[in-house]
Amino acid sequence: MSTPGSTLTSQEVVDIVRTTNYGTWRFQKSWNPLHIVDAKDCTITDGNGKQYLDFSSQLMCSNLGHKNPAVIASIAAQAEELAYAMPGYATTCRAELSKLLLEILPPSLNKFFFTTSGTDANEAAFKIARMYTGKTKIIARYRSYHGSTAGSIAATGDPRRWAMEPRGKQQGVIFAPEVNCYRCPIKHTYPACGIACADYLEHMIRNESDVAAVLVEPIVGTNGVLVPPEEYMPKLRKICDEYGVLLIADEVMTGWGRTGKWFAMEHWGVVPDILTTAKGITSAYVPLGLCATSEKIGAFFQDHYFSHGHTYEAHPMTLAPAVATINEMRRLNLVDRSAELAPYVEAKLRELKAKHPSVGDVRGKGLFWAVELVKNQTTKEPFNTYSDKVSGTPLLVDQIAGKCMADGVIIQAWVSHFVVAPPLIVTREEIDRGIATLDKHLALADALVEPDRAR
Ligand code: PMP
Repeated sequence: MSTPGSTLTSQEVVDIVRTTNYGTWRFQKSWNPLHIVDAKDCTITDGNGKQYLDFSSQLMCSNLGHKNPAVIASIAAQAEELAYAMPGYATTCRAELSKLLLEILPPSLNKFFFTTSGTDANEAAFKIARMYTGKTKIIARYRSYHGSTAGSIAATGDPRRWAMEPRGKQQGVIFAPEVNCYRCPIKHTYPACGIACADYLEHMIRNESDVAAVLVEPIVGTNGVLVPPEEYMPKLRKICDEYGVLLIADEVMTGWGRTGKWFAMEHWGVVPDILTTAKGITSAYVPLGLCATSEKIGAFFQDHYFSHGHTYEAHPMTLAPAVATINEMRRLNLVDRSAELAPYVEAKLRELKAKHPSVGDVRGKGLFWAVELVKNQTTKEPFNTYSDKVSGTPLLVDQIAGKCMADGVIIQAWVSHFVVAPPLIVTREEIDRGIATLDKHLALADALVEPDRAR
């Protein structure tokens, strides 16, 4: 099956796309995209009829799985009824989604701005934070990703930012050390550290002027599913309150049941001043982002000009499927399911770690896990670094992900780890299959572990 009316062969599709489009975050000559023609539940089919288990929910976004009939029906119905209305109008789907958000989000986050991606949800958050506080600086953290446009890439700590420096460097973003208890950037050990990384961030606030907000991924996503210790978020909330700095939680990847809660901040009972999200809000059926702000910020704009907006903001074709997605998530009880499957996934991944000298760490929550590879479990030396990624050096994780793909399992690889994040409807059998396939191909990494220093 393919686009209706198309007579293109699978090879023609690949060739046209490869030569006329940009392949993102890569050297163009290395791009040989798979032609995808169909997807149902956790299974994806390519142009040759080969099937794959989607073990990372594409980009950790197809949370409901593919071809959900209710979401598809909502798209068709909305297109029939009202495909577009400019943002100044009220639409029924806009009201319905807002009502649902009021039920799901913490009560204080009750004023919404709808965008079309996680990137522009973050752009909105930065502008709102700056307008509200009258201050400029955003403290973000290294090993973070917040989006690809000028402002959001400037707030991204990982090396994808480098290509924009110094040409596109934006004023007003400074970086704090990330929370990473496996590789603490300030060389402490939990719990003896007393959460020194939060103290460091406080030190930054105290020694900087003009700080508007602290921006965090509650659990760092692409950069390694870094789960903070229990005390971190409450401590950060306290610091932000003490210094009158806003806390922005980027839940683009961690929202919508991915971590076993609707939103990851719930794990620590912490409510941010601004929450941004995208991806799972529509299970990726259509592009939608959300910037939700607190009541006090909403109140501020009663008397201050809200200087922001897009033509496609609150687009009906994006909002109706979000309503259907949330209703489906509730009907199928997927947030609880994500939490319930977590111990099963964790146990299997811990087995992988025990078995493979190349697995340095496994960590995660819900259906959101990382498997991090190392050359040496004692020194934790990685096979590849971020510099390899941006300089085009072939990465071991990509090679292993390629082998998994040949065996019919699609798994996201990033620099030195894999992200295990299947759709929340995944079955135990599919989890077994995905992990067994990774297990098989980790032999490639095991063979490269430094023999004399391995366990
Ligand atoms: N923030 C986080 C935490 C993300 O993971 C991403 C995307 N991977 C973004 C922002 C940007 O979202 P988008 O790609 O939808 O613009």
